[in-house]
Order: sequence, then C-alpha cells, then structure tokens
Amino acid sequence: MHAIGIDIGGTKIAGALVDEDGNIVKHLREPTPAGDSAALENIVVDMINALSDGTDAVAAGVAAAGFIDATQSIVYYAPNIQWRHEPFREKLEARVEVPVIIENDANAAGWAEYRFGAGKLTTDMVMLTIGTGVGGAVVANGRLFRGGFGAGAELGHMRVVPNGLPCGCGANGCIEQYGSGRALQRYANTLADAGGIGQALADVRSKNGGYLHGADIGDLIDKDDPGALQALRQLGDWLGQAAASFAAVLDPQLFVFGGGVAAAGEKLLAPIRQAFLQTLPARGYHPEPEFRIAELVNDAGVVGAADVARTKASEQRP
Ligand SMILES: [Zn+2]
Repeated sequence: MHAIGIDIGGTKIAGALVDEDGNIVKHLREPTPAGDSAALENIVVDMINALSDGTDAVAAGVAAAGFIDATQSIVYYAPNIQWRHEPFREKLEARVEVPVIIENDANAAGWAEYRFGAGKLTTDMVMLTIGTGVGGAVVANGRLFRGGFGAGAELGHMRVVPNGLPCGCGANGCIEQYGSGRALQRYANTLADAGGIGQALADVRSKNGGYLHGADIGDLIDKDDPGALQALRQLGDWLGQAAASFAAVLDPQLFVFGGGVAAAGEKLLAPIRQAFLQTLPARGYHPEPEFRIAELVNDAGVVGAADVARTKASEQRP
C-alpha cells in the first residue's frame, strides 16, 4: 500500500510516492512560487495527481510549516505563505482522487524518524530540527502528540529566558532564539568580533563582504576550528538545557536532532548531553535518554507526511 507525501518548503516543493517501509518509489520537485498561494495549490494538486495516477496510493499527506488544526484540515497560520485559516485540505480534496491530510512539517519529519530512522526502537521520542528556527515533534506512546487544538509540540517556542530576545512568534526568550542556526551565526559573529579564537571566523566573514554564512561556520566546525566549535558549544549548551526541561515533562527514551546544524554530528551532541545532565531535574534518579542525529535528512518531510496519511487512512477503514 503506497501513500503520497508532499513537503512544502520555503524554496522547493518535494513530492514522493512512498511504500510501507518508507522507501521512495517516485520523486518530484518544483520551486515554491513565492507569494502566490493559487500557483502553490496548483503545483500540489498536479503532484498528487501525477504521483497517484496508475498506482494503489491510498492517501496523501501534505507537510507545511505552520499551525495546523486538530482535524489536519486547516492551516491556521503559515510563516512562509500568506495562509490564515486556509482550508487547504478541502481545496485539495476537491481536485484529487485520494483523501488528504495536512501535517506540520516538523511533525512529519519527527514521524519519519520514529518510523524508519533514528527512533525506530522507541515508543517515546522528541525531535528537534535545528534549521533557521527550531522545529519540534513529540512521539508519545507511539503516536504523534498534537495537542487539543493541533498546535502542540511547538518546542522551539518554549521560553528559556524571561524577557529575552524577541522571537518571530511574537513572544520573547524562546529557545528558537538561542538554539537555532541563526543563533549559531550570532555566537560566531560575536566570537569573530572578539578576535582570538574567533580569528578564522573573522577571516571568512571579511572574505564574504562582512557576512558569516551558516555553511562557512559548518566548514570551520568540520576543520575543528576552536572559534566555530566554541559557537557550537554555546548552541549545544542551550539545547541541552531545553532538552532537560522537555525530559521533565515528556520523559522520552530518545532525543533526535535534525536540520542543517545536525550535520556537526557528535560535535553537537556532546555539549547537548553535557548541559542536559547538568540541568536534568531529579538528576541521578531520572533514567538517561539517548541523543542521536536524524538519519533521514532530506527525505524526512515527504516520507513522514506519506506515512501519517497512510496510518490515518488505514485506521479509518471499517
Ligand atoms: Zn517563539
């Protein structure tokens, strides 16, 4: 039984026909039409129809950044698209042959890791996606946790600093402002300004006309540059403290870290683990979870969206 996964990203829309083991059978890709939600809808409809044509596809899952309602039908709010209370599921189902669900993109990625990647052998897992922002997914007792209104598991918006840095969500002091790829750039820039161990960061920054790209920081991390590693440790320290708070509430067996910054691998996990153990409430009595890097990387969104849709379709069968 196959299902279709669509992942609407900021720059591209990926679509895939996915089998029951999470393997991608067919893959499509289109650039995201910026600021044109009608064009975006057309692309998603064409992709679903192209991927389902002549197959046994039972459902389609569409992943997007934003708040999705509890029935997985309406996008309450999407940061990258001009959607406010958009009945996207209804619009799509009027134009395609398979049932559709809408899923938050971080939830889709987390579900893919739980089913087919780093989380395969667990029942309770927390995933943090460290990209431009911080995405969150919670699997509790083998199910995605969505909350009563569908907007739960927004782990990136847990407050870690009272009256801290303003966040894109309108609040202040969210972990997204201290544990994201953007925060890593901020730490690296501060180190570059100070010279000393930040000298290599300063050099690459001046070569790029005063801008420090995430990829350049990643290259320096790969080369074990002391400044870049210090910036990464600062990031890991925040993420480890946040993970300790999540553990107090959710008690997962496993934390999975995905997103661009997770390419740093063990160099990211080591400071996270250290800060986690120093901060964990009831330390010494609380069993210690594992910390792993995500395994599915680029395909997690489409694979997870397809599997959520397939799971839902099979549960609804009499
Ligand atoms: Zn926030």
